[in-house]
Amino acid sequence: MSADTAGLIAAVRSTLPALRVLTDPGDREAYRRDETTYLATGLPGLVALPTCTDDVAALVRLAAEHRVPVVPRGAGTGLSGGSAGIEDGLTIVLTGMDRLVEIDHGNLVVVTQPGVLNARLKAAVAAEGLFYAPDPASYEICSIGGNLGTNAGGLCCVKYGQTRESVLSLEVVLADGSVIRTGGKNVKDVAGYALQHLFVGSQGTLGIITEATLKLRPAPPPRVTLLAFFGSIADAGRAVAAIALAGLSPVTLELMDRITIAAVDDWQHLGLDREAAALLMVESDLPGDAGHAEMARAEEVCLACGSTGSFRAADAQESDLLRNARRMAYWALDRLGAARMEDIGAPRARVPDLIAAIERIAAKHGVMIGTFGHAGDGNLHPTIVLARDDPDAEVRTKAICADLYRAALELGGTVTGEHGIGASRREWLEPQRGRRAVEVMRSIKAALDPLGTLNPGRVL
Ligand SMILES: Cc1cc2nc3c(=O)[nH]c(=O)nc-3n(C[C@H](O)[C@H](O)[C@H](O)COP(=O)(O)OP(=O)(O)OC[C@H]3O[C@@H](n4cnc5c(N)ncnc54)[C@H](O)[C@@H]3O)c2cc1C
Repeated sequence: MSADTAGLIAAVRSTLPALRVLTDPGDREAYRRDETTYLATGLPGLVALPTCTDDVAALVRLAAEHRVPVVPRGAGTGLSGGSAGIEDGLTIVLTGMDRLVEIDHGNLVVVTQPGVLNARLKAAVAAEGLFYAPDPASYEICSIGGNLGTNAGGLCCVKYGQTRESVLSLEVVLADGSVIRTGGKNVKDVAGYALQHLFVGSQGTLGIITEATLKLRPAPPPRVTLLAFFGSIADAGRAVAAIALAGLSPVTLELMDRITIAAVDDWQHLGLDREAAALLMVESDLPGDAGHAEMARAEEVCLACGSTGSFRAADAQESDLLRNARRMAYWALDRLGAARMEDIGAPRARVPDLIAAIERIAAKHGVMIGTFGHAGDGNLHPTIVLARDDPDAEVRTKAICADLYRAALELGGTVTGEHGIGASRREWLEPQRGRRAVEVMRSIKAALDPLGTLNPGRVL
């Protein structure tokens, strides 16, 4: 262990004697990786589990004094290596800060600490007739802090936007240990720069979020769920754009290809049409007859785009079952081999081209790629499935991902729709954003974190 880290451990012990810390190598090992399991990572020298903002601020201050890098970590479900360990670094795990501070009906906001799991927050506000929209497929296992750190998307972004759209204000610990608030409960507030937008999605490189004030909505009625099957994946892609063009605003517009349909059906035995090349899951949360009318119209649009068949869930319970099956797509593919989920995107009208490109890349590399994702946002998760004992897995993954990223960029798309640049896509930031834009990002980083202690080597 480096002298700097040893010095930090001694300083933390004397300054914060009541703080829970992990120093045993076996305990620290659990914080080496996030869900991007194939990335090379480091073993943190110290893991701290604070329960209040003051402790986070003191930790960050001490780490800066001892020049030890700091990794903020939520539940560790990230898919870009953002919360993976840095050798001899300090990992600050925020899941102990799990207090729901306030549910404010009058202002339709919830104030929460970052360690609350997304599903717990959703359930708590639902019990009071309210709705928190952002819903990553991992919502049962990921934290609000991680959702803010990545600007997480999910199944209903197509209607309600990514996490950023739900943020009114943040409390943030800066790199020098000072604490700021970026706003309050005001719906409108243009006093100065909208700093919360800077921190959301910055993957812990600009500050550590210790509290968030988030927008709520009255709970919508149970959803009406449509599954439409297609003989060609390109037809399904065309239907995605056509649904938006028809003026419909579904709350869910998800796609699964043939490989994913079979993997999910083999596991969940739902009786899906396994002959289909793709399915679209379309949902409405409009009240009463309006929900059925919206899905009837979506069905017509799908038919006009070549859909071979469709059905509507009989009730809310069946809707939940189908939606959960979609959420399990990644794990279903992971049963077939080592699954590596990618996260590319394209403007919605180019989704058919993106799908065609993914198919070409799978054929070129002779590899199984199951594709599913948030087609309504133009955000797909081509998931590479390799043999678990493939000795060339790393090299092959890198080459396949490079082709996927190139294809997305050629379509005016993105190398990451919601998982973040993190550690795994860094060399693709400049090709996408351009040199000058990355220089601007670097100057923001330097202004907020001049010593470069906050999550170094991630994003930039
Ligand atoms: C099966 C599966 C499905 C998934 N589906 C989706 C999906 O539909 N949509 C989606 O967007 N993602 C999805 N993900 C990815 C992942 O769950 C999200 O990125 C999630 O937001 C990460 O939350 P976490 O608590 O696990 O954060 P972590 O992985 O611990 O951290 C993620 C990033 O946020 C930073 N961070 C964490 N806490 C803080 C904080 N308090 N302040 C500042 N920075 C912080 C970390 O440094 C890191 O860079 C999925 C993952 C899996 C395994």
